[in-house]
Order: sequence, then C-alpha cells, then structure tokens
Amino acid sequence: MSAQQTGSPVVLVVGGGISGMTAALEAAECGRQVILVERSPTLGGRTALLYRYFPKMCHPTCGLEINLRRLRANRNVRVLTMAEVTAVKGSAGHYEVTLKQHPRYVNEKCTACGDCARAVSAKIRNPFNYGLDEIGAAYLPHAMAYPPRYVIDPSVIGTPDAQKAKDAC
Ligand code: SF4
Repeated sequence: MSAQQTGSPVVLVVGGGISGMTAALEAAECGRQVILVERSPTLGGRTALLYRYFPKMCHPTCGLEINLRRLRANRNVRVLTMAEVTAVKGSAGHYEVTLKQHPRYVNEKCTACGDCARAVSAKIRNPFNYGLDEIGAAYLPHAMAYPPRYVIDPSVIGTPDAQKAKDAC
C-alpha cells in the first residue's frame, strides 16, 4: 500500500485507542491527510473495555462518542482496522511503511443487522471481555464498535458455519 500527497505528507497514526484517535483527529482537523491504523476490528482500544477511565473517570462511551462524532465528520482520516505495521523504512519526512491487512470476512456493505451472528453456531473466547466468556464467531466487537461492521472469526472459514453466514447475509 502506498499513500502520498503532493506538498503535504500523509500522517500515519499507529494504534486506534483513544490516544491514537485523538492524535489522528487533531492532525486531520489541522488539514492533514491521516491514516489511522488499528490491529483490532474496532477503534477505542483499552478505553472501550473499561468501566470508567482517567482523568475525569468518565464512562468510555463519553470520550469515545465525542471522538467518533469528530471522526465521522472528518474526511481527512482514513481508518484501517485489522491492519498492522510490518515494516518501516526511511527517515523523518520520508517514511515508507508496509501494512498487513487481516481479513474481516465482512465487507464495507455490512449494515450490522446481526443475521450472520444468528446463523453461526460456533463460539469463540470474547476478546472484548479479555476472553473470560464466549461469544458467537460472527460478532460485533461491542455496541459502539467503529466501524460498525461485524467480524467473522477465521476459525469459521472453511466450516459449514461460513456458508450459513454467507447465506444469511
Ligand atoms: S448478515 Fe452479518 S455481515 Fe451481513 S449485513 Fe448483517 S451483520 Fe453485516
């Protein structure tokens, strides 16, 4: 993948937790083109998993909701979830970065209707709850997930559940 903008370098922010989201938004709101890379299926990082977070001890829905609203309103930020940086070359101002995009098995047309989740019977450990419980293998990471798109766990691919998910969608 390559991204270039004449006269104004593209800003790459690695990590889509609340700090990364804020950094990306601050740069974007100053007019920069920004690529925000997050390895999990959704933005919010650990903050999204908490009951309350420092310093104001707000519920995560508060800070996340504000940042998500800013993100939706700003066309300068391109969000890449399920993506990882695998190599960085170059020097300040001239970096070349290689990303690896992991498959979600759900495309951008997902309306988060949940029909695939109802069709799939396989279970996985729940990443949103540190693996302490189980969820269906076709899932929305959490209620405020952004992008609001389901994920099909790779363990389903090649099993009858994959066809059930496809037929349901
Ligand atoms: S069936 Fe699943 S993948 Fe298809 S639109 Fe609904 S939630 Fe998205």
